[in-house]
Formats: sequence, structure tokens, C-alpha cells
Amino acid sequence: MALYAELHRHLGGSVVPRVLWRYFERHSSELISRFTEYSSFEEFYTRKRNTLDEYLELHTLVEKVQTVKTLPYFIYRLVRGAYIFENLAYLELRYTPYLRTPEDLSQSERIGKMTEIVEIVGKASQISEYPIITSQILCMHSRLPYEVNKAIVDLAAQNRQYVCAIDVAGGDSYYGERLEEWVQLYDYALSLGLNTTGHVYETTAGCYPQLLPYMNRIGHGIQIPLLYPELLPELAKRNQCLEVCPTTYIKTGTLEDIRQLKLVFDRCFAAGVDIAICTDNAGLHNVRLPFEYENLLTYDIINFEQLQACQDAAFRHAFAWPYNQRPASLLHGLLQPEPLIHS
Ligand SMILES: [Zn+2]
Repeated sequence: MALYAELHRHLGGSVVPRVLWRYFERHSSELISRFTEYSSFEEFYTRKRNTLDEYLELHTLVEKVQTVKTLPYFIYRLVRGAYIFENLAYLELRYTPYLRTPEDLSQSERIGKMTEIVEIVGKASQISEYPIITSQILCMHSRLPYEVNKAIVDLAAQNRQYVCAIDVAGGDSYYGERLEEWVQLYDYALSLGLNTTGHVYETTAGCYPQLLPYMNRIGHGIQIPLLYPELLPELAKRNQCLEVCPTTYIKTGTLEDIRQLKLVFDRCFAAGVDIAICTDNAGLHNVRLPFEYENLLTYDIINFEQLQACQDAAFRHAFAWPYNQRPASLLHGLLQPEPLIHS
């Protein structure tokens, strides 16, 4: 069995439509009262949006129901699905802990509650029947104030048993107004010895060369090979890996045709920049990791050899994978059959 690593998946976008529907049916049926049946809900939930903003709006629907009480319910189903249907050996799960705390509390009370969220997510992800190695990436958010984002970095540093890195999310067109602040926060995270990634160069409005040197990996980054290929040698030199999430760009209207990604892969391979293929929001898209792989092959964007290179890169760039190679190679070494001895 081939085993895969997933480096870019949001907790909010990980809930597959069927699980969310069942949850609403049981607990808050008023939220789905306008849908006559499951299929119309699924259509609404997974349909293509016109912009990244519109797409991110949908996340708030799930964030609201992911609370201290319900997180274990959703995470159990997420890890079970990832193990059974996606053959994941390794999963980095990302989210903004502040957005899972009760909205009616003050900012400082909500900051105080974030530790509990990290612990709950960490404990709920360890399921003995579905032994995936998991770790968390805590996302700072473009709409949250500096104090909250700094507290998220501190929280990551204080919970290394559960957290492997920090990220920034919330729409890459909004960082420009506070660029100095983001540079400062990333610099601070690196000074604490944290790994870093960030949603940048996803859309044409989200290109900030000033942030690139602060990131170990780049969340999306597809506009670099598409619009600024002259930056690729620097990325290669810094050993930065792009987390490319093919279905996202269609769902957000960033790309019109998935075949536009061929240039992304071709230019990165040529420049020696690694790519990890990821899902971003496997539930929201209803597209799991093996189908992301299959789509890229079907549209001749990559070949099987390149796919394997990307799958290997995902393990190499994983922040908390404890081995130095992917499990298929480990198993291959361990399970070589002994030669049969005939008596
Ligand atoms: Zn993302």
C-alpha cells in the first residue's frame, strides 16, 4: 500500500459534506432547514465560488460549529477518513485557534482559551485504530489584530508536542496594509525556533517578495512560477517547497482551467523547486488527496515519475515526520522477503 503525506489541510475545510449534514441534522437542523434534501446541500457546499473571499466566507459556517465540545467529533471522522480512504501516513492540520473560542468572550479571554483548543485537537487526532502521525499548524489571520496573532505564535512555541509550525491565512490580498507587522511576526516565530509557512502568491493580489525569506514552505505560491519565475532560483537555494492545492484554484476562480498548472510544475521542476501536492480543503471540495493526484495525471499536467517526486517531497518537507524518508521506502527495506530455503 502506498502511503502519503498531506501538508496543507484546513480543519474547517476538512469536514466532508455528508458528515456536516449529519451533524446539522442531529444538532442544529435550523441551519439546514432551507435545503430540502442532502444533494442540494452538497451542491451548495461544494460549488465553485467566484473569488477567494467568497470561498473563505464558507469556512465560517464550519468554524462556528467546531467548538471545544464538537471538535473531537469532527476530528475523529476526519482522521478515520484520511486513514481509510486516503492512505495518509502523515497529516499536518491547520486552523486559527482563536476562531474556535466563544465569540461572546473578550479578546484576552479568548486568547486564554486557545491553549485548550490546541490540546483538544492534539488529543483527538491520536486515534489508535487509525495511526496517522499528525501535527498542527496554527494560522495567524489577516483579519485578526497583532496581539492575537502574536499570541498564536507564542502558543505554537509553548505547545511543540502538538504544533509543528505557524502560517498566515485569511486571504492573501490583505497583508499589504500591515506588511511590517507580518515581517515582525515571522521574524519572531523564527527566533523562537518555529517552522513557518504562509498563504502567499495564491492570487495575483497576494504577491509579497518581502515575506518569502521568512518561510520554510510556501502555501500555494503558484503565482511565483506563473508570474515571477525569476524568483525560482532563490526558492531553490532556500530549499523552499510549494504547497500546491490544485482543486482550490478552480473553486476560488483563481485559475480557469486546471491545465494552467502545467506551467507551475514544469517551471518548478526545471528550477529544482520542490512541490508537495495537497488538498487544502478536502471536505469542502469533496476531493481527497488520491484524486488530486489522479486529476493531475489525467490532465497530463504531470507524469507518474513526477508524481512520485512530489510525494517524496511531501515527506522530505514535512515539519514533524520523524523519519528521513517516506514510509513506502521504509517498508520496502523492512519487508524484503527472505529467500526461500528448500530442504
Ligand atoms: Zn490553505
